[in-house]
Amino acid sequence: MKPASEWRRLLIKVSGEALMGDGAYGISQPTLQRICGEIVEIVRQGREVGLVIGGGNFLRGANNALTAVDRVAGDQMGMLATVMNAVAVAAQLRALGTEAVVLSAIDVPVICDRFTHRGALQHMAEGRVVLFAAGTGHPFFTTDTAAALRAVEMGCDALLKGTQVDGVYTADPNRDPTATRYETLTHQEALSKNLGVMDAAAIALARDNDLPIVVFSIQEVGALPMVARGEGVCTIVSE
Ligand code: UDP
Repeated sequence: MKPASEWRRLLIKVSGEALMGDGAYGISQPTLQRICGEIVEIVRQGREVGLVIGGGNFLRGANNALTAVDRVAGDQMGMLATVMNAVAVAAQLRALGTEAVVLSAIDVPVICDRFTHRGALQHMAEGRVVLFAAGTGHPFFTTDTAAALRAVEMGCDALLKGTQVDGVYTADPNRDPTATRYETLTHQEALSKNLGVMDAAAIALARDNDLPIVVFSIQEVGALPMVARGEGVCTIVSE
């Protein structure tokens, strides 16, 4: 793994839930502004940034409450939820003075361009934050897997995965007071110990392509730009 000081291009994964702040649904303005401000700091560190945002603050396909909506339709709704979040984050980044563009894995031509590898590379090289919306574009996947896929595809040096806790623990720290945080882990350990870092497809893709995953708390103010510099509290999953 390259030292963090040499990371030039980063993929940041933020769950939809992280945008809710104290709310139970949707997007909280102060939280959106705070997270976008931290992303702007990373851009100002001189790094190229890609972002994958989840959609769980609106809907998750696998556990939607609508009886007539099956998994495929639910996942389609979930992918559309990620497009809404990406549009909001891009708008907030622009309002903070950073250029940002939404590229979607499904066609929503009135709203944004379709993701292409060459298009995304060009936007990043020109200094824009690229928001990869609609996950992989396929049902039965998650935005974690989309994040690993885009990180590998775009040649990112690391995937920064923001969660509700400040790393990967031996057990759920909210339930088990004896749980301790790993400083480092291998992808294989994360998989075989079933530590819930990300879903298995995402970790396997990262493992097979030597992509480090940095797990940190998105709730902790200032943690994101710190972990991008290789500082702060986190767990690093690498070979
Ligand atoms: N989704 C999908 N394919 C993808 C990515 C996401 O079908 O490649 C759908 C799926 O229904 C998922 C929802 O979009 O539950 C929101 O994504 P996710 O659950 O990963 O969001 P997060 O938990 O990160 O907020």
